[in-house]
Formats: sequence, structure tokens, C-alpha cells
Amino acid sequence: MATDKLAFIRAELDELAANHLLITIRTVDSPADAWMIVDGRRVLNFCTNNYLGLANHPRLKQAAQEAVARWGVGPAAVRTIAGTTTLHLELERRLAAFKGVEDALFVQSGFNANQAVIPPLVGKEDVIFSDRLNHASIIDGCRLSGAKIVVYEHCDPEDAEAKIREHLPHHRRGLLVTDGVFSMDGDIAPLDRLYAIAERYGVLTMVDDAHGEGVLGRGGRGIVDHFGLHGRFDVEIGTLSKAFGVVGGVIAGKKLIIDFIRQKARPFLFSSATTPADTAACLAAVELLEASAELVERLWENARYLRRALQQLGFDTGRSQTPILPIMLGDAGLAQRFSRRLFEEGVFAMAIGYPTVPRGQARIRVMNTAAHTRADLDFGIEVFAKVGRELGVIA
Ligand SMILES: *Cc1c(COP(=O)(O)O)cnc(C)c1O
Repeated sequence: MATDKLAFIRAELDELAANHLLITIRTVDSPADAWMIVDGRRVLNFCTNNYLGLANHPRLKQAAQEAVARWGVGPAAVRTIAGTTTLHLELERRLAAFKGVEDALFVQSGFNANQAVIPPLVGKEDVIFSDRLNHASIIDGCRLSGAKIVVYEHCDPEDAEAKIREHLPHHRRGLLVTDGVFSMDGDIAPLDRLYAIAERYGVLTMVDDAHGEGVLGRGGRGIVDHFGLHGRFDVEIGTLSKAFGVVGGVIAGKKLIIDFIRQKARPFLFSSATTPADTAACLAAVELLEASAELVERLWENARYLRRALQQLGFDTGRSQTPILPIMLGDAGLAQRFSRRLFEEGVFAMAIGYPTVPRGQARIRVMNTAAHTRADLDFGIEVFAKVGRELGVIA
């Protein structure tokens, strides 16, 4: 009799469910605004990356509509083969100017940006120094390169230096790579100290600023601006899928490196460009941020207000220094129950468990935005207080 080839899948899914790690995806029927329609209910949106409220912004929508009228809906080609539109080039020029770098390359997503950059820079004879909590797309980019991966302790420049001293002499080249803002904890990499160390040993430097773009630095210019390290970091990765409210990734840095990436990056060479509508909407987002820091300031005001209120209630917000606010619960089952009760009370905030965060560190990840009013935040805080007391998380 034939064996059941798919039994392993059923077993694995059963195990995930038993450990409260099965992901259930809710259905959204509205834009990603401060309030959304989710699974048929109107709920307060506390789990979006739409930091500045740009995902449904009239200026971006208008830019996208005009781009469809002028350029059509699809690029229908890879840029290196069938040419690149003036629209994509204009966005890249504006992104480079906004970030204060020599050059920038726009790719389909932040995830793709990491796959695009790392393999051209390092290979089998090289070594990568990677923060323990780096994003999955960095880890996959590192693996793709074939280089040896040496993990240093989270946000620990001393450990990074010790690992560089131990491993660099046995390799051709080194690359140090870190998240800028860590996406599940909301803490900020000590970029100045990491840079100083990498520079001392001649190691290439790269930062993934997905959650810092549009959030940190002057008017949202990102983590390199936050630390005043312009022109120092070799490569800065960013995304236009979060604070910029659209979709896409950016690779920014020295012209020599970006020129090289254009020749070598496989997601750029073998995958179609972003659509005209997306590209034009990204351009409108850059223009909005260049014109005013008001949305970024409102985001931070809201973040400070929410963090203080949740801490005063007795919640453990971990290491957060940014609008990413983890409510540390530990147990994955508790985190799932907490999230479910929040939803029943009208707040949408997801439980995050292994493998997105280490085992035993399950949490609710709260994300506020510039689009939330004070009344929205107060409603959310009240619901957190109620559910927190009910489940015995706070007194
Ligand atoms: C979200 C995220 C990405 C992926 O960005 P997308 O544009 O959504 O593909 C990459 N790196 C980090 C650190 C992220 O948080």
C-alpha cells in the first residue's frame, strides 16, 4: 500500500496548533486606517506598519491614479532587459537626495533588497557578522551568499568586536549587518559604536532600516541620519512598505556600490519592476516627507503617550525605544488569548510567537501611528487595562 506522503504536513500543523503557534489570518475589508473593518467588525488598528497614515493618503492615491492614466498598470518587464522608466529613475534620485546618499536603487520590496545586496558583497570565502535578532530577510540574504555567518549578541558591539577578531583573519572579507530598529522589540541598534568597530577592522557595513525609514532621523530620514553617520555606512536598506505606506525596497549608499548592485543583484536582474502606480505613490510619499516633519512628530507624540500609559498600567514593554511597543507576556497561549480578547473588545493587535520571536518570549505587538487621535489611543489603553486585569497580567 502507498504511504501517506503528506502525513508530515498534518503532523506539523497539528503540533503548531497544540503549541498555540498556528497563525490565523484575519480578513480585512477596509483601508489600513486607524480604524478598520476586520472579520466584519470595526476595530481600532494597533498592528499596522502604516506609521504615518500614508497608505490611504489622498495625495498618494491621486499620484497612483495619474500614473495609471499615463503609464498603464504593469511594467511588463525586468528593468535591465527592457529599459527603465523615467518614473523609477526619478524616484531613485529623490530617495537618494532625501537620505543624503550618492545613489539609490529601488527594488520590489524590503525583503528583496536584502536578497539583492548581500550575495554580491560576500561569498564563500567571506564572513558575515549578524545581530542575533536580525530580520528573517537579512538571515535569508546571508544564507544565499554562502558566506560563513557569525552571530553576535543582540546590540552588543563588544561581542561583535570579539567575533570580528576571532573570525576575520580566516576569511577574505567581512560584512557587518544589523537591523536599524528591531521589528519585534522596537529597540535601536547602537549604529555609531558598531560602525566604529567595523571601520577599525575594515569590515563592510550594512543596516536594514525598514522600521526607521520615515520614523527616525530628521523628518524621517532614517537611522543613519539619527546617528549623523552620513556617507559612512556602506549600504542602507529601506522599505517603502511601512512608513511610506506603499510597497517597495530601497538600497542606498555609495555610487560605486549601487552601480555594482545594479550589475549583480538577482531580484533586480530577474524580477519585474514595481508598477507605475506604486512607484508614483512612493514618489508622492517622499515629497510629503520632504515638505513637512509634522506626521513624523505626531507619530512620536502618540508613541510616547501610549508607552507611558501602558507602562503606568503595569505592562512590561521590553526594550522599546520607538513606536514598536511589545507587551511582553511570555507564554504563547496567553498571548493568543490576550489578542483574542482585545479583538472582542474592539482592538486589533496580534500575538507574536515563535519563530518570529524566541520561544518563551511571546508578546502582543502594539503599533500606533500618526493617524491615531488621542481619543483612539485612550480607547485602546482602556481595553488593554480591562483585558490585562481579566487575564491576570496586571493588578
Ligand atoms: C518588514 C521588514 C522587511 C521587509 O520589508 P518589505 O518591504 O515588507 O518586504 C525587511 N527588513 C526588516 C527589518 C523589516 O522589518
